[in-house]
Amino acid sequence: MGKMEDYISEVSKWNKELRGFLESEDVDKNNELWQRLDHFTDIMEGITGPLNIQELEKIQEQVDGLHSDMENYFTNRQRVGNVYMNEPYIAAGKHVLPPLPYDYKALEPHISGEIMKLHHDKHHQSYVDGLNKAENMLQTARDKGDYSLVKHWSRELAFHGSGHYLHTIFWNNMSPKGGGKPSGALLKEINKYFGSFDRFKAHFSEAAKQVEGVGWAILVWSPRARRLEILQSERHMLLTQWDTIPLLVLDVWEHAYYLQYKNNRGDYVKNWWNVVNWKDVEDRYLKASELKWKPF
Ligand code: MN
Repeated sequence: MGKMEDYISEVSKWNKELRGFLESEDVDKNNELWQRLDHFTDIMEGITGPLNIQELEKIQEQVDGLHSDMENYFTNRQRVGNVYMNEPYIAAGKHVLPPLPYDYKALEPHISGEIMKLHHDKHHQSYVDGLNKAENMLQTARDKGDYSLVKHWSRELAFHGSGHYLHTIFWNNMSPKGGGKPSGALLKEINKYFGSFDRFKAHFSEAAKQVEGVGWAILVWSPRARRLEILQSERHMLLTQWDTIPLLVLDVWEHAYYLQYKNNRGDYVKNWWNVVNWKDVEDRYLKASELKWKPF
């Protein structure tokens, strides 16, 4: 047998092992992992003769995808009685610190191992802890119907939530093999809006250098403008969680109600529920929920 046949028969064997493994773990049949694996089995069973390079690449892509899906499964599974369950989402208070995707020292000499260790193990961990605490306290508030501290815990939720989500992006935005320029579609977008990669880099660098006090420089995709933009976040805690998508918003600036309700914001909020377009909120939800990152 040639190398290609060896590889295909290895992968076929691996595919069967994975199926056996998911069955032995009692993984729910509706789990995305099964769907991916079924799709992969179809591809493997569809192979009749020698593959061309594109077909081989497609199979390797599937293998890589399944590999990381299985890894996710192991990271997130939780024991329920005798079986393991994959956490399909992060329940209140259940965030965990994502592992650094490389060694502490991997980014040296540009960023020291000492900084990386402190930054990841201490700072990021405290965001995770703070976010879990805020979510648990707000869960308690909902259970008791007591919202007297909603302002405080919303602030904590924003501060620690943004901290956790942004750092999770940040670690993966860097690599020991990093540097250089982006390519493909992203480079095209950068050239389209900023004119060139150098102009983008200059703007982003200045935005970063001129953030007042603590903060971030952030390259974003705007689904509305359908293009990139560079933003500064002076204080990421200012009542947002970066890396989330708004579904339902209520304007409580005075211009939105004062002419009619004067200072009675409560009545405005109460009556506003009568005009909420849930169909629109559902549409936004369906679109937004297609975007899923690895859960932490
Ligand atoms: Mn930081």
